[in-house]
Amino acid sequence: MTNPGLDELINAIAKAKNTDADSIRKLVKEKQAEFSGLLTEKGAAQLLAQEAGVEAASDSNDEDASAVIPLADALDQADVFVRVVSVFAPKGFERNGRKGRVCNVQITDGKTKASLVLWNRDVDLVEYGKIERNDFLLIRNAQVKSTEPLELQSSMLTKVIVKKPDEITTELSPLAAGILPNTAVPVRKISELIDTEPEFDIYGRVLRVDEEKEFVYKDGRKGRVAKLLIADGTGTCRVILWDKNADLAQRAKVGDALKIEAGYAKKALNSDAFEINVGWKGHVFLHPKKHPLGEKEDVLSAMYKEKPLSSAAEGDEFISWGTITGIDSAAVVKKCRACNTTIKAGAKACEKCGGTNARDLLVVSVVLNDGTKDVRAAFFDSQAKELLDVHEITVDMDTVVRLKREYLIGKKVRGVFAARTNAFSGNLEVTARHVISVK
Ligand SMILES: [Zn+2]
Repeated sequence: MTNPGLDELINAIAKAKNTDADSIRKLVKEKQAEFSGLLTEKGAAQLLAQEAGVEAASDSNDEDASAVIPLADALDQADVFVRVVSVFAPKGFERNGRKGRVCNVQITDGKTKASLVLWNRDVDLVEYGKIERNDFLLIRNAQVKSTEPLELQSSMLTKVIVKKPDEITTELSPLAAGILPNTAVPVRKISELIDTEPEFDIYGRVLRVDEEKEFVYKDGRKGRVAKLLIADGTGTCRVILWDKNADLAQRAKVGDALKIEAGYAKKALNSDAFEINVGWKGHVFLHPKKHPLGEKEDVLSAMYKEKPLSSAAEGDEFISWGTITGIDSAAVVKKCRACNTTIKAGAKACEKCGGTNARDLLVVSVVLNDGTKDVRAAFFDSQAKELLDVHEITVDMDTVVRLKREYLIGKKVRGVFAARTNAFSGNLEVTARHVISVK
């Protein structure tokens, strides 16, 4: 098959390099091999042209729709205008000792569906939430990897221009008009979750980030899982992030807004509560451009009643505040990872199950007073870190408390608390569920 565009390019490079077309064709093949077959002939020729300083065809602007062709006509290399059907989880891989990232985005132009495979730096578009379901993409120089099924790839020559549905300009709108929102995927609230829906999108604010864990799949592959707790004003829900999606947990901070695309709900083990899973077909990102969420405090206020400490009763979960009048204790306790029993100081294994794998649990106990009552309040793990305003505990707790005592005494803490009766003293105490503010 002849390709006039390619021949022209090859002749231009040959002229610039003072050689013949055949030696340039050889260089094109070498370039393709160098990129492990990710470049088409024309793509490789364009890279060579750039290297040789050959003037490339004028770069069209972000709105110019003149070169756009239907997906069905895309061969070799094409400019296309499409809509995002779904975004799969990015994946990491290693090839020839080099680490890379790849992500599959399902697209349509209204008539034809295709896969768009993004490589390496282009995967940032997905990991940082630039590409969402139903966004429009103007893709310049998409490389056509295969036509049955149709698969496009991004290469070094490809430019992906993302347009949110409300950012469509007059120049692009005739094209966009033909691409209806193709997906019937619902956007759910936490209170609406059911476990029979194959997929849904959902927004939430991060209330807690749990540590990431590694595990081994049945086929021997290593997997990773991270857990978050989110709230949206209708409820709280755990989010289970599998494999590459677990990366997000390292970047997430309490209070951040996030969006999950193509999650599914499952009942938690030994519980009636739903958990949202995000597997390879879904993806999750922080700071969505548009979201329906209030600030963290508003989200929590919609879910819990405000109460003075004096009227809290056993089992209550409520919003309250108190001034810190004293610090009772602060310690790092060892907990068995298998059964969550506290491992006694100095003990090598768990008394209950014999497990030797322990995790550190930070516990800070203070006295709060809101003018109605003195109440002992316990803060665990991330709540304790928020109270102390530290991210990592790198020195012993006595030092932390000594350094923080002056900072803490007199501070007003607002948060969601759970009330329980101390089995030994018979006094009502509270555990901090979520810290709203420490001022
Ligand atoms: Zn144990």
